[in-house]
Amino acid sequence: MAEVVLMGVKGGPAIRPGSHMPTSVLLRIGGRSILVDAGLGVTRGICDAGTPLTGLDLILITHLHSDHYLELGPLLHTAWTAGLTRPVPVIGPSGLPAHWEGFCASMAFDIDLRERDEGRVPFAPLFDFRLLTEGEVTGTAGLTIRAMRNDHPPIEESYALRFDCEGASIVLSGDTAYMPEMADFARGADILVHEAMLLPGVEALVARMPNGDERLRTHILRSHTSAEDVGRIAAEAGVGKLALTHMVPDGDPDFSEEDWRAEVRKHWDGPLHIGRDGMVLRTG
Ligand SMILES: [Zn+2]
Ligand SMILES: [Zn+2]
Repeated sequence: MAEVVLMGVKGGPAIRPGSHMPTSVLLRIGGRSILVDAGLGVTRGICDAGTPLTGLDLILITHLHSDHYLELGPLLHTAWTAGLTRPVPVIGPSGLPAHWEGFCASMAFDIDLRERDEGRVPFAPLFDFRLLTEGEVTGTAGLTIRAMRNDHPPIEESYALRFDCEGASIVLSGDTAYMPEMADFARGADILVHEAMLLPGVEALVARMPNGDERLRTHILRSHTSAEDVGRIAAEAGVGKLALTHMVPDGDPDFSEEDWRAEVRKHWDGPLHIGRDGMVLRTG
């Protein structure tokens, strides 16, 4: 059995009263605790999920939009103050070491102080970076992780991830436009967690933006997947259950769970979960 905890299901970087948190997902699979993405709120989310910050075995970052890694430095710093003493493997895009170096530089006073004054282990080496590329990411002790480059312009280093272990399989779409290849990548998975947007909600969101020119609208529409197309992928892939995450819009009272369901149900009649922060999904 494996578990997925959706710790942040909101698409995009802003939060407002009543909204969910940006993206982070905790997987418990093959006896390991794996974090995928580290958006704002991830540190609290891991604790609320009952996992100690010192218990993370691996971190993967799908791409470098801030809603997926804004809290990576603060997460590792907080894990350090909570007693982390071993490096944590972090697998992600090529820009991540610059984030880490910048974070360490921004906190140098505090880090130096705690190392000298409190005797903590050196902080900087706790970040054990490996570049995320397409194909098999790791295949150790029965757990196989594979990455597929998805379609999230203008970012090129952006990935969907698949985890297979002891008969349990979980697929995370990452941020992506509709891509039929996702159905092959997710074929037969127990759980597919896919990003989704509601097209009328996108129009309402863009209309509310103070500087509303066409760029935000164009970005959202060409980089993300409509809820209807998510249903299409789940049906084509034959997954066990489908969960929506990275939802755009989020927290708009004009749109309810029923609106999401109606779109997905045009193609998918299997188990469907409209994501909420803290939602736990289990295989089997
Ligand atoms: Zn995003
Ligand atoms: Zn993105």
